[in-house]
Amino acid sequence: MATFKAVVIEKAEGGQRAALTTFDEADLMEGDVTVRVTHSTLNYKDGLALTGQAPVVRRFPMIPGIDFAGVVEQSSHPDWKPGDAVVLNGWGTGETHLGAYAEKARVKGDWLVPLPASLTPQQAMAIGTAGYTAMLSVLALERHGLSPASGPAVVTGAAGGVGSVAIALLAKAGWHVIASTGRAAEAEYLRGLGAAEIIGREELAKPAKPLAKERWAAGIDAVGATTLANVLSMTRYGGAVAACGLAGGMDLPTSVAPFILRGIALYGIDSVMAPQALRREAWSRLARDLDHAALAAMTTTIGLDAVIDQGPEILAGRTRGRVVVAIS
Ligand code: NDP
Repeated sequence: MATFKAVVIEKAEGGQRAALTTFDEADLMEGDVTVRVTHSTLNYKDGLALTGQAPVVRRFPMIPGIDFAGVVEQSSHPDWKPGDAVVLNGWGTGETHLGAYAEKARVKGDWLVPLPASLTPQQAMAIGTAGYTAMLSVLALERHGLSPASGPAVVTGAAGGVGSVAIALLAKAGWHVIASTGRAAEAEYLRGLGAAEIIGREELAKPAKPLAKERWAAGIDAVGATTLANVLSMTRYGGAVAACGLAGGMDLPTSVAPFILRGIALYGIDSVMAPQALRREAWSRLARDLDHAALAAMTTTIGLDAVIDQGPEILAGRTRGRVVVAIS
């Protein structure tokens, strides 16, 4: 029987246990496309799945990993044939459907997008779900009618995955980017990605006033909680904020003041169930707009054997930029 290497999470006494092991191809779940996975990545949600710190995994055993790039091996889906290079983000992969930290995945063809021609599979996963989410956030701000002429843009969780890609995208488009980080030592890294100003995370950590001094026209927030409340209260009249993360918490201790007195908008960003048309738009913009040198500067690469140990690291906010998992 055919087997392949995979990280597998099993239920164990008092929680769960993750191990690098072999997996039977016959035990893959239903799907009309089988993919040889070449690269995956480490996202915040993968950290939650690997550690069990939040109930991300809804089925056991589970192969974690919410995104991959790979090559189609077998397909009964009309859009895909063997040899096609593909990318997958979300759709419950690594949560309810066996995921990406494996040499093989079987998924629905409807979930896949083509690997953009100008990106290698490694670059696509250096972007990964974090970078695709950053692009979805930029698209939301643009749809609001904002542009670099509107004023500065703030990015929170700046040295993380979403934050790093958001900075690079906004800076390349000409925005004055204000990067909020808890890691002062990463100032040079953030400037290298294109940040014009660095502010300390603590500036956005005090309880938010209903309205505060207007500091930016746009925001991309990966942190949530008090940080997002402060970002909102400091957004200029008519501005907008894209909320995509919860690295600082799930709550949102704000008031209606920024909305009804400054007319600002808060856009929710979801990458997991985003419709195909939006995904393809995001990936084609990433292929066109993301500076490859900036992408390389924010990326480190690990093997499948190192991924389990990296779970607690990303949850502790110690991971810089993006981590690619090279698989086969
Ligand atoms: P990372 O861990 O790479 O980045 C998160 C960053 O947030 C950290 O690097 C750190 O940045 C900052 N941070 C961490 N802990 C805290 C804290 N307690 N208080 C304030 N800031 C903190 O994760 P990702 O970039 O992969 O993901 C970021 C967030 O976006 C996560 O919450 C994730 O779940 C969410 N996400 C949501 C998606 C969606 O579909 N909506 C898709 C992808 C991600 P610094 O050191 O610079 O302060």
